[in-house]
Amino acid sequence: MQTTCDVLIVGAGPAGSSAALASAKIGVRVVMIEKKRQVGVPVQCAEYVPWQITQEVALPKNVIAQQIVVMRTHLPDGEMKETQARGFIIHRNLFDQHLVKTAFDAGAEIFLQTRAVGYENGVVRIKQGKQELQIKAQVIIGADGPYSTVGKWMGQGNTEFIHTAQYQMYLCHGLNSTEVYFRKDIPGGYGWVFPKGNVANVGVGVDLQFEVKPGEALHRFVEYLHACGIIEPEVIKRTGGVIPTGGLVKRLHHSNILLVGDAAGMAHPITGAGISNAVICGRMAGEIAAKAVLKNDLDVLKGYEEECRLVLDESLMRARQKRKAMEAKWSDGANDEELSKALHSSWIAFEEYWGGEKHDK
Ligand SMILES: Cc1cc2nc3c(=O)[nH]c(=O)nc-3n(C[C@H](O)[C@H](O)[C@H](O)COP(=O)(O)OP(=O)(O)OC[C@H]3O[C@@H](n4cnc5c(N)ncnc54)[C@H](O)[C@@H]3O)c2cc1C
Repeated sequence: MQTTCDVLIVGAGPAGSSAALASAKIGVRVVMIEKKRQVGVPVQCAEYVPWQITQEVALPKNVIAQQIVVMRTHLPDGEMKETQARGFIIHRNLFDQHLVKTAFDAGAEIFLQTRAVGYENGVVRIKQGKQELQIKAQVIIGADGPYSTVGKWMGQGNTEFIHTAQYQMYLCHGLNSTEVYFRKDIPGGYGWVFPKGNVANVGVGVDLQFEVKPGEALHRFVEYLHACGIIEPEVIKRTGGVIPTGGLVKRLHHSNILLVGDAAGMAHPITGAGISNAVICGRMAGEIAAKAVLKNDLDVLKGYEEECRLVLDESLMRARQKRKAMEAKWSDGANDEELSKALHSSWIAFEEYWGGEKHDK
């Protein structure tokens, strides 16, 4: 069976829903497909978003778990640096569901438990259970996460990743800060404690080239935090996932296909944050796709790549370079003091990272 639509969006994460909303608002026929049964579940996220996201999306009260005021960075040599980091810990499942509902209310059609499986001669093959269907769309937006299937159709894909493991645990005391820990035994990444009321998302991200398993690094990190009186030992929930850290993929646009969000490598290579960029560029992808449809001119899509690179290239390229410099330090087996020194220029809390410029995170 074959059906048609103007804009087909694969993946109903923040990138896909933001694209769906933007296209639907312009008045074209949008179909968004999502392989999961329930949007945003399971949560694979530490759930921090900076306040600036509210310039793109109004956060309903029930989505906000708590406010964050500062970020505290703990270096291996014991130095602690506190920086302004106004933002929110959100209920990520509710956030993703809110975005989908907004897109639905604007007129997008949404199909859950529906997976994109192939693309031949301009037609997308999708699977709903055992049933296989075909959709012909004027524009396709790949918003299908770090291992994007749509990206493969255009010969694109992320090649560098951080692998994470995360527990939800009870806090001994409430916090209004995100806590970031750099440690030799969390190589190529960092550990985090992001408070969410009386609990916290406690996780690690590691680079597998250093032959450390994320689960083992997390176990050691949690023991340390418990010994410091920060968290209780009980594990409430477990999650994890991968974050692309190589920056933007080579091409964000090919023919009638656009890539956005993690599918396009839009997460920050140093912090791993990807929600804001997914939302901003999702809107851009959705708007441009709808304009191309209305003008009946696929050349309009060319502007997407240019716009995204203008918004993201500088920041992601800088972060990727800093990541490479840090990786070299970890490879060299730097001691705590050397690592701490290197982090002054490789981590966003320090002015050296920004070349001495002032900034508002
Ligand atoms: C442990 C962890 C902690 C993180 N913490 C933070 C944080 O605190 N703050 C932050 O900003 N970022 C964080 N990130 C990164 C952030 O989660 C991502 O950058 C963000 O989810 C990207 O959004 P997206 O819409 O591009 O992709 P996703 O949210 O991954 O959504 C992609 C969707 O596509 C669906 N899909 C995939 N393939 C198909 C297919 N073939 N057919 C149909 N559907 C498909 C998936 O099921 C998924 O729902 C974290 C990531 C991890 C792993």
